[in-house]
Amino acid sequence: MTFSIHGLAVAPGVAIGRAVLVASSRVDVAHYFISQDQVGDEVRRVRLARDAVVEEIHRLQGTIEQMGPREAPHELRALLDVHLMLLQDEELELGVKYWITERLYNAEWAMTSQLEVIARQFDEMEDEYLRERKADLEQITEKILRAMQQQSDALAGAAGSRPPILLGRERSQDAQEPLVLVAHELSPSDLLHFKQGVFAGFVTDVGGRTSHTAIVARSMDIPAVVGARNGSQLIDQDDWVIIDGDAGVVIVDPSPIILAEYRFKQRQAELDRGRLERLRDRDAVTLDGEAVELMANIELPEDTPAAMHAGAVGVGLFRTEFLFMGRQSHLPDEEEQYQAYRLAVEGMRGRPVTIRTIDVGADKPLGLHQEGTQLNPALGLRAIRWSLAEPSMFLTQLRAILRSAAHGPVHMLIPMLAHLGEIRQTMALIEQARAELVRAGVPHGVVQVGAMIEIPAAALMLKTFLKYFDFLSLGTNDLIQYTLAIDRADEGVAHLYDPLHPAVLRLVADTIQECRLQGKGVSVCGEMAGDVAMTRLLLGLGLRSFSMHPAQILAVKQEVLRADTSQLQSWAQTVLSHEEPGLMLAN
Ligand code: PEP
Ligand code: MG
Repeated sequence: MTFSIHGLAVAPGVAIGRAVLVASSRVDVAHYFISQDQVGDEVRRVRLARDAVVEEIHRLQGTIEQMGPREAPHELRALLDVHLMLLQDEELELGVKYWITERLYNAEWAMTSQLEVIARQFDEMEDEYLRERKADLEQITEKILRAMQQQSDALAGAAGSRPPILLGRERSQDAQEPLVLVAHELSPSDLLHFKQGVFAGFVTDVGGRTSHTAIVARSMDIPAVVGARNGSQLIDQDDWVIIDGDAGVVIVDPSPIILAEYRFKQRQAELDRGRLERLRDRDAVTLDGEAVELMANIELPEDTPAAMHAGAVGVGLFRTEFLFMGRQSHLPDEEEQYQAYRLAVEGMRGRPVTIRTIDVGADKPLGLHQEGTQLNPALGLRAIRWSLAEPSMFLTQLRAILRSAAHGPVHMLIPMLAHLGEIRQTMALIEQARAELVRAGVPHGVVQVGAMIEIPAAALMLKTFLKYFDFLSLGTNDLIQYTLAIDRADEGVAHLYDPLHPAVLRLVADTIQECRLQGKGVSVCGEMAGDVAMTRLLLGLGLRSFSMHPAQILAVKQEVLRADTSQLQSWAQTVLSHEEPGLMLAN
């Protein structure tokens, strides 16, 4: 039966595909398609891993036999019996086999897919004892996955590792149908696993419009809906699903008529995309001759080809924290960071790259840190605060950035500053990093240093900031969050997250104006910059530098080409003084 789920539209377009339900704890499991002739091998891998776990349990049972009831209580024996029973369950075996043979999923993916199917059945059971067996099922799945990992590691040692075959928009020849990802929650670093991945779109239960998960979704350029509340419980594994990333709606089990309508919409969007492509080589100049700089936001050095392809004139924001997140053990050292920054600089072939120093914390946890224990992580040890609390880590990053500047133009951007003391400490550490490189005779380059304006306090002390920095960049995502006291990742207050709130617009307008007065560069690198509904207003407020996901550049360019700033200027002032600016933009 067709039904729809409403969430927040975060990445435009329409995706139609079969649902793949993924638990957040399992996203690090490799998802790739196999070819028809690998089916036998994959089925065997699962069987061998399962047999290894069964054997391990038999061994444990043997040991327990020799123990008295004190050391080996009855519950432990019963638990092992339940695990054995689940391991030998036909539904698990046949289900996993189905995903491998019919859908050509790799063994690990097939295993977690079937786990989701059976777990759902447990959830629906009346009997509490049986319902709680879901935890046992998860444990044995975990054991099988671990056994598969050990077998692959052993094989890799002997014959080189097996690379996961990740497929993008182009489908595998063997794979029959497009897939969409459905999850309760995905962290931004989880999503990176799926960059260039197999999915045509995704839905999550939680998340706000400018949560970092949503931002990464936009950078993947696939339709997405977040904040779908209990969507992941309503959708079943393998259901047909339409994701309408423009309306923020997910349609489950669509009727043929709805399906045809959306397929039409999809084709229409492709045509629009094709039309925009023609603007790629046009300079972004307004009707009245004002040149506008359109730059790219990137998360990883591998994103630079997309930025170049979209015609970005530089990188306005490289979120370096993505190099640090989702690591099991150590953080990247100076050499690894240097190589990553250098790759980005070289990838942009002489166009400037703005490297932001690490911004972890809040909804971008590092994984190694004590996150989760703070009551208000967005107000806690985040971004520059974290860097200044870890000076040796910060110095490592600063040296790596300065070294990358030997390969092309690099700007350094500091996130979340609010205090003069922080500015002074940061400047002193940049100097120290430079002095260390000079002493060691390591090649490095000159960088311009800029600050992000993303805390209202910073926007209210612009003159001080401009004394110390070469340029400013408006991080409107956080500026809105902190001005309006709205958690940007919380779908419960998403309706109050308003870029057009008069207080937000006032801070944005004053920052642009002050920078222009002082002849300093200013850009917007928050999501507002890539929102075509905001382009005319920002141009009217005097902004000439925008940084956004590569996928949005051409649409914004189209707005720029149609704009006349001589007219927009006075209109923007009227919007600014209006009690409800949103109404003026709607008209
Ligand atoms: C912002 O806050 O607008 C910004 C660009 O930084 P981030 O989204 O990474 O916090
Ligand atoms: Mg920010």
